[in-house]
Amino acid sequence: MPTSCYRPRFFVASALVVVLAYTNSPAAQKGRASSSDNLTVVVDAGHGGHDRGGIPGQSVAEKNMTLDVAQRLRNVLAASGYRVVMTRDSDVFVPLPTRVAIANSYRNAIFVCIHFNATKRAGASGIETYFYSRDSLPLASAVHYYVTGGAPSGNRGVRRRGYYVLRKTGIPAVLVECGFLTNPTEAAYAQSVSYRQKLAEEIAAGVRGRNSVGSSLSSTPVATSETIPLQPYMDQTKVSSSERRKSKRSHKKSARKKKSSSKSSNSEARASSIHPEG
Ligand SMILES: [Zn+2]
Repeated sequence: MPTSCYRPRFFVASALVVVLAYTNSPAAQKGRASSSDNLTVVVDAGHGGHDRGGIPGQSVAEKNMTLDVAQRLRNVLAASGYRVVMTRDSDVFVPLPTRVAIANSYRNAIFVCIHFNATKRAGASGIETYFYSRDSLPLASAVHYYVTGGAPSGNRGVRRRGYYVLRKTGIPAVLVECGFLTNPTEAAYAQSVSYRQKLAEEIAAGVRGRNSVGSSLSSTPVATSETIPLQPYMDQTKVSSSERRKSKRSHKKSARKKKSSSKSSNSEARASSIHPEG
């Protein structure tokens, strides 16, 4: 996910954005009040248009995978009675501020951002779920619990980080990295229709279960079969953005020198940090 694609200069160029509020069938609408509490889910397919996502030379375009999973997620959620709004529903570029503005224009809403990961190290794998505001942790926990439970990929954990779309949204917001397209195995999964459908169904299960996340701090920690355990998370908000930029620059500069030592977890953490910043 090249961050350069998200600079404000693209904001003006892409002012015309079609926002599609998905209206589900009358039958589904009947059950809306009981199954969704009139919640609006803003589904955000990462990248699009000139922003292909991923890293240079990546064979599977992230923007296509994110859109497909987002559209499948819309269909699953709509069938459960949710009102769904897509920040994009075709191969167009939508600037981050526009995505945030769409999300913030709804009350009683949540924001679910779909991405796939990329890094130069082909062995890197697994699923990550990001959140920023504390109000978003139950949603992140529930989504991560279901997606990692239903996908064969590894669990890279729930992470708290100040990505633009998470920091600027005033509603509970999560960003799911549905595996590494630079990993041959996970890229093969992603290219399978059934796997993308499975991802959509698990993310939707997380949306439905967002209020069932049990807290380890709860005074009545009685687990029921419907309780979703609170996922432990890594707080990655302590690093200042200037330090992150410096780290990226030094990583780039030393990439050639470090070829033989690229296995360190630290270098992997940096390399996988190519996400929507701002
Ligand atoms: Zn991405």
